[in-house]
Amino acid sequence: MLLNTIKYDEPVFRPPGEARSAIIQATLGCSWNKCAFCEMYTSKNFKSRNFEELKSEIETLSRYYKGAKKIFLADGNAFVLSANKLIPILDEINKQFGKLQRISSYALPKDIMIKSESELKDLRSRGLKLLYVGIETGDNELLKLINKGETFNSTVDGILKAHNAGIDTSIMILNGLGGKKYSQQHALKSAEIINKISPKFLSTLTLSLPYGVEHFQEKFNGEYQQQTIVELFEELKLFIENIKAENIIFRSNHVSNNLNLKGTLSKDNDQLVEMLQQAIINTPNNKYPSAPDML
Ligand code: SF4
Repeated sequence: MLLNTIKYDEPVFRPPGEARSAIIQATLGCSWNKCAFCEMYTSKNFKSRNFEELKSEIETLSRYYKGAKKIFLADGNAFVLSANKLIPILDEINKQFGKLQRISSYALPKDIMIKSESELKDLRSRGLKLLYVGIETGDNELLKLINKGETFNSTVDGILKAHNAGIDTSIMILNGLGGKKYSQQHALKSAEIINKISPKFLSTLTLSLPYGVEHFQEKFNGEYQQQTIVELFEELKLFIENIKAENIIFRSNHVSNNLNLKGTLSKDNDQLVEMLQQAIINTPNNKYPSAPDML
């Protein structure tokens, strides 16, 4: 019934932690849409939705999701919207849904940086408490190669600015992003950036190549050499071994991952490293990951 009432602009993506959230498409597509590995929104042109349309969708959703605790603002980086555009949307959500645990969205570090400290605090006070940021890696060389449009420093600045305003972050790192050549620096610089920003949540996903290795090669200066599953585990192990920040809720349970891991870093580092070591021993070293049935 809901599907007849709200017409989502497909495809719609949301983080696993938002599986039970009401989803409001405040924007369509991704305003950046240029990352070499990402095909999520290549079928869409970025657009900010009209507030009047959103208002009626929020009202409809509030009737179907009675008692909803969480709202996720889609698509790719709804946080790119200015505070002036986000505030009426958040106010309408709060008015229609009543008491919520949190509102969240995907964001790029630059989306955070374009807002002032007081704007960020204002958004936080209206319930926007969590931003999902796919930083992918802390390695500047790799960030450039994948055309992320961010650097180690711009990422740290953006994330810390959100934290200072009381907004938590959930950070995503992409295992296998640099292939064999960049594996070590990817793991070490990613651990370094996590130690600097100390996010509340951290997850690792594994690079998926739905259009094949060659398609990605073209966008990666031809330097990408796919890693075996064992090499991916070794990269992840090196990453976890080097995380010193504390009280980070860690999950590596995305459909793209070859081993399910969860724990609290750095308290559970030894246990996670041991699990990875066992997986390394038990996996043939000539096995490559298959592309999951998703982009
Ligand atoms: S990875 Fe994120 S920022 Fe990059 S193109 Fe995809 S959705 Fe946009």
